[in-house]
Amino acid sequence: MTSHLDIDDASDAPVEPRGDAAWQDDVRQGVRHARDLDSLPLSPGERAAAQAAAARHKVRIPKAYLDLIDWDDPADPIRAQVIPSPRELAEAEGELDDPIADHEFSPAPRLTHRHADRVLLFPTYQCAVYCRFCFRKESLTSIGRGYTREALEPAFAYIEAHPEIREVILTGGDPLSLPDKALAEIRARIEAIAHVRLLRIHTRVPVALPSRITAGLVRSLQGRLMVSVVTHFNHAREINDATEQACRTLRQGGFVLLNQSVLLKGVNDTVEALEELCRELMYRLGVKPYYLHHGDLARGMAHRRTTIAEGQALVAVLRQRLSGICNPVYVLDLPDGGGKVPIGPCYVEARDGESWRIRGQDGAVRVYAEVVGE
Ligand SMILES: *Cc1c(COP(=O)(O)O)cnc(C)c1O
Ligand code: SF4
Repeated sequence: MTSHLDIDDASDAPVEPRGDAAWQDDVRQGVRHARDLDSLPLSPGERAAAQAAAARHKVRIPKAYLDLIDWDDPADPIRAQVIPSPRELAEAEGELDDPIADHEFSPAPRLTHRHADRVLLFPTYQCAVYCRFCFRKESLTSIGRGYTREALEPAFAYIEAHPEIREVILTGGDPLSLPDKALAEIRARIEAIAHVRLLRIHTRVPVALPSRITAGLVRSLQGRLMVSVVTHFNHAREINDATEQACRTLRQGGFVLLNQSVLLKGVNDTVEALEELCRELMYRLGVKPYYLHHGDLARGMAHRRTTIAEGQALVAVLRQRLSGICNPVYVLDLPDGGGKVPIGPCYVEARDGESWRIRGQDGAVRVYAEVVGE
Protein backbone atom coordinates (compact mmCIF):
# COMPACT_ATOMS: atom_id res chain seq x y z
CA MET A 1 0.00 0.00 0.00
CA THR A 2 1.25 3.47 -0.86
CA SER A 3 1.67 5.34 2.37
CA HIS A 4 -0.25 8.51 3.07
CA LEU A 5 1.50 11.78 3.56
CA ASP A 6 -0.22 12.36 6.85
CA ILE A 7 0.37 8.96 8.34
CA ASP A 8 1.35 8.29 11.88
CA ASP A 9 4.89 7.30 11.04
CA ALA A 10 5.62 10.46 9.02
CA SER A 11 7.74 11.60 11.96
CA ASP A 12 10.86 9.86 10.75
CA ALA A 13 10.43 10.60 7.07
CA PRO A 14 13.26 12.49 5.38
CA VAL A 15 12.40 16.16 5.07
CA GLU A 16 13.50 17.02 1.57
CA PRO A 17 12.98 18.55 -0.86
CA ARG A 18 12.24 21.77 0.98
CA GLY A 19 8.74 22.17 -0.53
CA ASP A 20 7.64 19.03 1.27
CA ALA A 21 9.44 19.84 4.51
CA ALA A 22 6.98 22.57 5.46
CA TRP A 23 3.87 20.43 5.45
CA GLN A 24 5.67 17.50 7.03
CA ASP A 25 6.59 19.76 9.95
CA ASP A 26 2.97 20.91 10.14
CA VAL A 27 1.77 17.32 10.38
CA ARG A 28 4.45 16.26 12.83
CA GLN A 29 3.90 19.19 15.18
CA GLY A 30 0.12 18.95 15.11
CA VAL A 31 -2.30 16.64 16.89
CA ARG A 32 -1.96 13.14 15.45
CA HIS A 33 -3.36 10.99 18.24
CA ALA A 34 -5.89 11.47 21.01
CA ARG A 35 -3.00 11.53 23.51
CA ASP A 36 -1.61 14.67 21.82
CA LEU A 37 -4.69 16.49 23.11
CA ASP A 38 -3.28 16.14 26.64
CA SER A 39 -0.84 18.98 26.05
CA LEU A 40 -3.56 21.42 24.97
CA PRO A 41 -5.38 23.84 27.29
CA LEU A 42 -8.72 22.02 27.05
CA SER A 43 -11.67 22.63 29.34
CA PRO A 44 -12.36 19.87 31.90
CA GLY A 45 -15.40 18.80 29.83
CA GLU A 46 -13.38 18.61 26.62
CA ARG A 47 -10.61 16.72 28.37
CA ALA A 48 -13.04 14.14 29.74
CA ALA A 49 -14.72 13.78 26.37
CA ALA A 50 -11.59 13.76 24.29
CA GLN A 51 -10.66 10.11 24.71
CA ALA A 52 -14.18 8.78 24.31
CA ALA A 53 -15.04 11.01 21.36
CA ALA A 54 -11.70 10.41 19.70
CA ALA A 55 -12.26 6.67 19.87
CA ARG A 56 -15.47 7.13 17.83
CA HIS A 57 -14.08 9.58 15.28
CA LYS A 58 -10.34 10.07 14.87
CA VAL A 59 -8.59 13.28 15.86
CA ARG A 60 -6.01 14.92 13.65
CA ILE A 61 -5.15 18.62 13.51
CA PRO A 62 -2.15 19.98 11.60
CA LYS A 63 -0.19 22.63 13.49
CA ALA A 64 -1.13 25.39 11.04
CA TYR A 65 -4.79 24.83 11.87
CA LEU A 66 -4.21 24.30 15.58
CA ASP A 67 -2.38 27.64 15.71
CA LEU A 68 -5.54 29.44 14.56
CA ILE A 69 -7.36 28.54 17.79
CA ASP A 70 -7.82 31.30 20.35
CA TRP A 71 -7.62 29.24 23.53
CA ASP A 72 -9.05 32.09 25.62
CA ASP A 73 -12.34 31.75 23.77
CA PRO A 74 -14.27 28.60 24.72
CA ALA A 75 -16.56 29.19 21.71
CA ASP A 76 -13.74 29.70 19.21
CA PRO A 77 -15.00 28.67 15.74
CA ILE A 78 -11.80 26.81 14.83
CA ARG A 79 -11.75 24.92 18.12
CA ALA A 80 -15.41 23.97 17.65
CA GLN A 81 -14.60 22.26 14.35
CA VAL A 82 -11.75 20.01 15.50
CA ILE A 83 -11.62 19.58 19.29
CA PRO A 84 -13.85 16.72 20.49
CA SER A 85 -16.78 17.93 22.55
CA PRO A 86 -18.68 16.00 25.24
CA ARG A 87 -21.86 16.76 23.31
CA GLU A 88 -20.64 14.56 20.46
CA LEU A 89 -21.33 11.52 22.60
CA ALA A 90 -25.05 12.28 22.71
CA GLU A 91 -26.74 10.84 19.65
CA ALA A 92 -30.17 12.12 18.73
CA GLU A 93 -33.10 10.14 17.35
CA GLY A 94 -33.02 10.21 13.55
CA GLU A 95 -29.28 10.63 13.13
CA LEU A 96 -27.68 8.29 10.58
CA ASP A 97 -24.45 6.40 9.85
CA ASP A 98 -24.68 7.23 6.16
CA PRO A 99 -26.55 10.55 6.11
CA ILE A 100 -26.62 10.97 2.33
CA ALA A 101 -26.89 7.31 1.26
CA ASP A 102 -23.42 7.01 -0.32
CA HIS A 103 -23.51 3.23 0.16
CA GLU A 104 -26.93 2.64 -1.37
CA PHE A 105 -25.79 4.04 -4.72
CA SER A 106 -22.47 2.27 -4.92
CA PRO A 107 -22.14 0.02 -8.01
CA ALA A 108 -18.45 -0.72 -7.31
CA PRO A 109 -16.23 -0.45 -4.24
CA ARG A 110 -15.18 3.16 -3.54
CA LEU A 111 -17.63 4.58 -6.04
CA THR A 112 -21.00 6.34 -5.70
CA HIS A 113 -23.09 6.93 -8.84
CA ARG A 114 -26.32 8.75 -8.13
CA HIS A 115 -26.46 11.38 -10.88
CA ALA A 116 -25.98 10.17 -14.45
CA ASP A 117 -23.16 12.50 -15.48
CA ARG A 118 -20.97 12.39 -12.36
CA VAL A 119 -19.57 9.95 -9.83
CA LEU A 120 -17.91 10.17 -6.44
CA LEU A 121 -14.64 8.24 -6.20
CA PHE A 122 -13.09 7.52 -2.80
CA PRO A 123 -9.34 6.96 -3.26
CA THR A 124 -8.73 7.12 0.50
CA TYR A 125 -10.70 7.33 3.71
CA GLN A 126 -8.00 9.31 5.51
CA CYS A 127 -7.90 13.07 6.00
CA ALA A 128 -5.30 15.70 6.91
CA VAL A 129 -7.71 17.01 9.52
CA TYR A 130 -10.71 15.29 11.11
CA CYS A 131 -13.72 17.56 11.45
CA ARG A 132 -16.03 16.72 14.33
CA PHE A 133 -19.14 17.37 12.20
CA CYS A 134 -18.08 15.20 9.23
CA PHE A 135 -21.04 13.53 7.53
CA ARG A 136 -18.83 10.63 6.43
CA LYS A 137 -17.27 10.06 9.82
CA GLU A 138 -18.62 6.55 10.17
CA SER A 139 -16.87 5.57 6.91
CA LEU A 140 -13.61 7.16 8.05
CA THR A 141 -13.29 5.10 11.19
CA SER A 142 -12.62 1.83 9.38
CA ILE A 143 -8.94 1.12 9.15
CA GLY A 144 -7.06 -0.17 6.15
CA ARG A 145 -8.87 1.91 3.59
CA GLY A 146 -5.94 3.85 2.23
CA TYR A 147 -5.06 4.14 -1.43
CA THR A 148 -4.00 1.28 -3.61
CA ARG A 149 -4.21 1.21 -7.36
CA GLU A 150 -5.88 -2.20 -7.29
CA ALA A 151 -8.61 -1.08 -4.90
CA LEU A 152 -9.75 1.53 -7.42
CA GLU A 153 -9.58 -0.63 -10.55
CA PRO A 154 -13.22 -1.89 -10.38
CA ALA A 155 -14.35 1.73 -10.04
CA PHE A 156 -12.26 2.79 -13.05
CA ALA A 157 -13.66 -0.13 -15.07
CA TYR A 158 -17.20 0.98 -14.16
CA ILE A 159 -16.49 4.57 -15.25
CA GLU A 160 -15.03 3.27 -18.50
CA ALA A 161 -18.18 1.25 -19.17
CA HIS A 162 -20.47 4.24 -18.57
CA PRO A 163 -20.04 6.89 -21.26
CA GLU A 164 -22.65 9.14 -19.61
CA ILE A 165 -20.13 9.95 -16.86
CA ARG A 166 -18.46 13.30 -17.52
CA GLU A 167 -17.22 14.31 -14.08
CA VAL A 168 -15.18 12.27 -11.66
CA ILE A 169 -15.22 13.73 -8.16
CA LEU A 170 -12.37 12.64 -5.90
CA THR A 171 -13.59 12.78 -2.33
CA GLY A 172 -13.15 10.66 0.75
CA GLY A 173 -11.49 11.09 3.07
CA ASP A 174 -9.33 13.79 1.62
CA PRO A 175 -7.77 13.03 -1.78
CA LEU A 176 -5.07 15.67 -1.24
CA SER A 177 -3.78 13.71 1.75
CA LEU A 178 -2.34 11.31 -0.84
CA PRO A 179 1.24 11.56 -2.15
CA ASP A 180 1.85 13.39 -5.44
CA LYS A 181 2.70 10.12 -7.12
CA ALA A 182 -0.65 8.55 -6.21
CA LEU A 183 -2.50 11.66 -7.36
CA ALA A 184 -0.67 11.64 -10.69
CA GLU A 185 -1.48 7.95 -11.12
CA ILE A 186 -5.18 8.46 -10.41
CA ARG A 187 -5.33 11.52 -12.66
CA ALA A 188 -3.63 9.70 -15.54
CA ARG A 189 -5.96 6.69 -15.19
CA ILE A 190 -9.06 8.91 -15.31
CA GLU A 191 -7.63 10.96 -18.16
CA ALA A 192 -7.31 7.79 -20.23
CA ILE A 193 -11.10 7.45 -20.19
CA ALA A 194 -12.09 9.53 -23.21
CA HIS A 195 -15.62 10.49 -22.15
CA VAL A 196 -14.52 12.05 -18.83
CA ARG A 197 -14.34 15.84 -19.14
CA LEU A 198 -13.73 17.17 -15.65
CA LEU A 199 -11.80 16.06 -12.58
CA ARG A 200 -13.15 17.52 -9.36
CA ILE A 201 -11.37 17.33 -6.02
CA HIS A 202 -13.18 17.89 -2.74
CA THR A 203 -10.63 18.78 -0.08
CA ARG A 204 -9.94 20.52 3.22
CA VAL A 205 -6.17 20.46 2.70
CA PRO A 206 -5.95 24.09 1.45
CA VAL A 207 -7.73 25.11 4.69
CA ALA A 208 -6.12 22.88 7.31
CA LEU A 209 -2.74 22.00 5.79
CA PRO A 210 -2.08 24.78 3.26
CA SER A 211 1.66 24.06 3.13
CA ARG A 212 0.78 20.78 1.39
CA ILE A 213 -0.24 22.74 -1.74
CA THR A 214 3.16 22.57 -3.40
CA ALA A 215 4.29 22.96 -6.99
CA GLY A 216 4.70 19.18 -7.10
CA LEU A 217 1.10 18.61 -6.02
CA VAL A 218 -0.15 21.01 -8.68
CA ARG A 219 1.91 19.27 -11.37
CA SER A 220 0.53 15.89 -10.38
CA LEU A 221 -2.98 17.09 -11.25
CA GLN A 222 -2.20 18.85 -14.52
CA GLY A 223 -3.04 17.12 -17.77
CA ARG A 224 -5.76 16.92 -20.37
CA LEU A 225 -8.68 17.40 -18.00
CA MET A 226 -10.30 20.55 -16.68
CA VAL A 227 -9.68 20.40 -12.94
CA SER A 228 -11.84 22.00 -10.27
CA VAL A 229 -10.68 22.09 -6.67
CA VAL A 230 -13.59 22.46 -4.26
CA THR A 231 -12.31 23.70 -0.90
CA HIS A 232 -14.10 23.58 2.43
CA PHE A 233 -13.72 26.84 4.37
CA ASN A 234 -16.31 27.39 7.09
CA HIS A 235 -15.11 30.61 8.73
CA ALA A 236 -13.23 33.77 7.72
CA ARG A 237 -10.71 33.01 10.50
CA GLU A 238 -9.48 30.16 8.27
CA ILE A 239 -8.46 32.71 5.65
CA ASN A 240 -4.90 33.94 6.26
CA ASP A 241 -1.58 34.36 4.45
CA ALA A 242 -0.97 30.60 4.28
CA THR A 243 -4.38 29.65 2.91
CA GLU A 244 -4.20 32.61 0.51
CA GLN A 245 -0.86 31.32 -0.81
CA ALA A 246 -2.27 27.80 -1.21
CA CYS A 247 -5.24 29.08 -3.20
CA ARG A 248 -3.00 31.28 -5.34
CA THR A 249 -0.84 28.27 -6.17
CA LEU A 250 -3.94 26.29 -7.19
CA ARG A 251 -5.34 29.15 -9.27
CA GLN A 252 -2.03 29.67 -11.01
CA GLY A 253 -2.02 25.96 -11.75
CA GLY A 254 -5.11 26.61 -13.85
CA PHE A 255 -7.69 25.00 -11.58
CA VAL A 256 -11.21 26.33 -11.08
CA LEU A 257 -11.71 27.04 -7.37
CA LEU A 258 -15.04 26.67 -5.62
CA ASN A 259 -15.92 26.35 -1.94
CA GLN A 260 -18.52 24.46 -0.01
CA SER A 261 -19.28 25.31 3.60
CA VAL A 262 -21.41 23.58 6.18
CA LEU A 263 -23.77 25.73 8.22
CA LEU A 264 -22.73 25.03 11.81
CA LYS A 265 -24.30 26.39 14.96
CA GLY A 266 -21.73 28.25 17.02
CA VAL A 267 -19.29 28.38 14.11
CA ASN A 268 -20.82 30.35 11.26
CA ASP A 269 -24.57 30.69 11.92
CA THR A 270 -24.67 34.49 11.91
CA VAL A 271 -25.09 36.91 9.03
CA GLU A 272 -21.80 38.59 9.95
CA ALA A 273 -19.82 35.34 9.92
CA LEU A 274 -21.23 34.15 6.59
CA GLU A 275 -21.00 37.57 4.99
CA GLU A 276 -17.32 37.93 5.84
CA LEU A 277 -16.56 34.33 4.85
CA CYS A 278 -18.20 34.62 1.43
CA ARG A 279 -16.62 38.00 0.64
CA GLU A 280 -13.11 36.95 1.69
CA LEU A 281 -13.40 33.67 -0.22
CA MET A 282 -14.13 35.50 -3.46
CA TYR A 283 -12.24 38.77 -3.01
CA ARG A 284 -9.12 37.51 -1.26
CA LEU A 285 -8.80 33.87 -2.30
CA GLY A 286 -10.49 33.93 -5.71
CA VAL A 287 -12.68 31.03 -4.59
CA LYS A 288 -16.32 31.13 -5.64
CA PRO A 289 -18.77 30.22 -2.83
CA TYR A 290 -20.61 27.26 -4.34
CA TYR A 291 -22.74 25.53 -1.69
CA LEU A 292 -23.76 26.26 1.87
CA HIS A 293 -24.82 22.87 3.19
CA HIS A 294 -27.50 22.50 5.80
CA GLY A 295 -26.04 20.34 8.60
CA ASP A 296 -26.34 16.64 7.71
CA LEU A 297 -27.78 14.06 10.11
CA ALA A 298 -24.30 12.89 11.20
CA ARG A 299 -24.32 11.18 14.58
CA GLY A 300 -23.73 13.29 17.69
CA MET A 301 -24.05 16.59 15.85
CA ALA A 302 -27.43 17.89 17.03
CA HIS A 303 -25.62 20.63 18.98
CA ARG A 304 -24.14 22.01 15.73
CA ARG A 305 -27.28 21.89 13.61
CA THR A 306 -29.47 24.93 12.96
CA THR A 307 -33.08 24.72 11.85
CA ILE A 308 -33.81 25.08 8.15
CA ALA A 309 -35.84 28.23 8.93
CA GLU A 310 -32.77 29.77 10.59
CA GLY A 311 -30.68 28.92 7.54
CA GLN A 312 -33.25 30.46 5.21
CA ALA A 313 -33.33 33.68 7.23
CA LEU A 314 -29.52 33.90 7.03
CA VAL A 315 -29.28 33.37 3.29
CA ALA A 316 -32.11 35.83 2.64
CA VAL A 317 -29.94 38.55 4.19
CA LEU A 318 -26.84 37.34 2.30
CA ARG A 319 -28.79 37.66 -0.93
CA GLN A 320 -29.45 41.34 -0.11
CA ARG A 321 -25.94 42.16 1.05
CA LEU A 322 -23.60 40.16 -1.18
CA SER A 323 -22.99 40.28 -4.90
CA GLY A 324 -24.25 37.40 -6.97
CA ILE A 325 -20.85 35.79 -7.28
CA CYS A 326 -20.28 35.89 -3.52
CA ASN A 327 -23.57 34.06 -2.82
CA PRO A 328 -23.54 30.30 -2.23
CA VAL A 329 -26.61 28.15 -2.84
CA TYR A 330 -28.13 26.86 0.40
CA VAL A 331 -28.73 23.12 -0.07
CA LEU A 332 -29.95 20.08 1.79
CA ASP A 333 -28.62 16.67 0.86
CA LEU A 334 -31.66 14.44 1.26
CA PRO A 335 -30.93 11.36 3.38
CA ASP A 336 -32.55 8.78 1.10
CA GLY A 337 -30.38 9.66 -1.89
CA GLY A 338 -32.69 12.37 -3.21
CA GLY A 339 -29.61 14.47 -3.89
CA LYS A 340 -28.83 18.07 -3.02
CA VAL A 341 -31.78 20.38 -3.31
CA PRO A 342 -31.79 24.16 -2.90
CA ILE A 343 -33.77 25.12 0.22
CA GLY A 344 -33.24 28.87 0.27
CA PRO A 345 -36.23 31.17 0.77
CA CYS A 346 -38.80 31.18 -2.01
CA TYR A 347 -39.46 34.57 -3.61
CA VAL A 348 -42.49 33.44 -5.58
CA GLU A 349 -45.58 34.07 -3.44
CA ALA A 350 -48.38 33.04 -5.78
CA ARG A 351 -49.30 32.52 -9.39
CA ASP A 352 -52.50 33.17 -11.28
CA GLY A 353 -52.06 32.10 -14.92
CA GLU A 354 -49.44 34.38 -16.45
CA SER A 355 -49.50 36.66 -13.45
CA TRP A 356 -46.97 35.98 -10.71
CA ARG A 357 -46.69 37.59 -7.28
CA ILE A 358 -42.98 37.80 -6.48
CA ARG A 359 -41.23 39.23 -3.42
CA GLY A 360 -38.41 41.63 -4.25
CA GLN A 361 -35.12 41.82 -2.37
CA ASP A 362 -36.59 44.80 -0.49
CA GLY A 363 -39.36 42.55 0.85
CA ALA A 364 -42.16 44.19 -1.15
CA VAL A 365 -44.33 41.95 -3.33
CA ARG A 366 -44.71 42.85 -7.01
CA VAL A 367 -46.92 41.47 -9.72
CA TYR A 368 -45.02 40.23 -12.76
CA ALA A 369 -46.96 39.49 -15.93
CA GLU A 370 -45.36 37.03 -18.34
CA VAL A 371 -45.20 38.01 -22.00
CA VAL A 372 -44.32 35.10 -24.27
CA GLY A 373 -44.53 34.93 -28.07
CA GLU A 374 -46.28 32.15 -30.01
C1 LIG B 1 -22.68 15.97 -3.92
C2 LIG B 1 -22.69 14.88 -4.86
C3 LIG B 1 -22.33 15.07 -6.20
C4 LIG B 1 -21.95 16.43 -6.74
O1 LIG B 1 -23.10 17.21 -6.84
P1 LIG B 1 -23.01 18.68 -7.47
O2 LIG B 1 -24.38 19.23 -7.22
O3 LIG B 1 -22.69 18.51 -8.91
O4 LIG B 1 -21.93 19.41 -6.76
C5 LIG B 1 -22.36 13.99 -7.05
N1 LIG B 1 -22.73 12.77 -6.62
C6 LIG B 1 -23.11 12.57 -5.35
C7 LIG B 1 -23.52 11.20 -4.95
C8 LIG B 1 -23.09 13.60 -4.42
O5 LIG B 1 -23.43 13.37 -3.15
S1 SF4 C 1 -11.81 16.72 5.75
FE1 SF4 C 1 -13.84 16.30 4.88
S2 SF4 C 1 -14.03 14.05 4.88
FE2 SF4 C 1 -12.33 14.58 6.27
S3 SF4 C 1 -13.25 14.74 8.31
FE3 SF4 C 1 -13.29 16.81 7.45
S4 SF4 C 1 -15.32 16.98 6.46
FE4 SF4 C 1 -14.92 14.78 6.80
